[in-house]
Amino acid sequence: MRLVLVGPPGAGKGTQAQFLAAHYSIPHISTGDIFRANLKAGTPLGVQAQSFMDRGELVADSVTNEMVKDRLTHDDVANGFLLDGFPRNVAQAEVLRAILAEKATPLTAVLELSIDDAEIIGRLSSRRTCKDCFQPSVGVDKCPLCGGDVYQREDDKAEVIARRLEVYAEQTAPIISFYRNEGLLITVSATGKVEEITEHAISALSRVS
Ligand code: AMP
Repeated sequence: MRLVLVGPPGAGKGTQAQFLAAHYSIPHISTGDIFRANLKAGTPLGVQAQSFMDRGELVADSVTNEMVKDRLTHDDVANGFLLDGFPRNVAQAEVLRAILAEKATPLTAVLELSIDDAEIIGRLSSRRTCKDCFQPSVGVDKCPLCGGDVYQREDDKAEVIARRLEVYAEQTAPIISFYRNEGLLITVSATGKVEEITEHAISALSRVS
């Protein structure tokens, strides 16, 4: 299963990605998590990405594409992968198509999580993120997965959320039609219980894989 997960910030991509990656036994590759890990470790990549991330803007394609290209050379992607947060624009989608074409391993499907803007804003402003494993959670002091401390991401603050939604609408939403035209798009509603959304996704994906 070679899967891309797409949807606006706050649609629950990270949460669904975890369940889906476990279900298909494939690595969950989140470009946001890779940037955050680099930021935490103080690497040059993290330093380069930080100002874009804090403002809710996209990190430069050249930087992001290289990072993903490198990640897709690791052994653990031999049986597939789940990409979460990449591609974020049509240029990145084209680069991904070229990387995969070179290896003759095209995408199996692109799963879109669809949700209204009003619900997104409520979800994101109450979201907290683990400092250690980046797991998102709501209403807790410690990470439910690893027990680490949680914090509010700079880009989950109200003013930055608005910009992230604009960036999604302007730059990321066009990849939906791109993938629809490629015959890869599957859309499921991201509203409701987490387990039900996962079930709908798995059932829709069983029809294409
Ligand atoms: P996320 O955790 O997916 O919401 O990503 C957090 C931030 O990381 C984004 O707002 C961007 O600044 C950056 N980022 C993540 N993925 C990408 C990408 N594919 N292209 C450019 N920037 C990205």
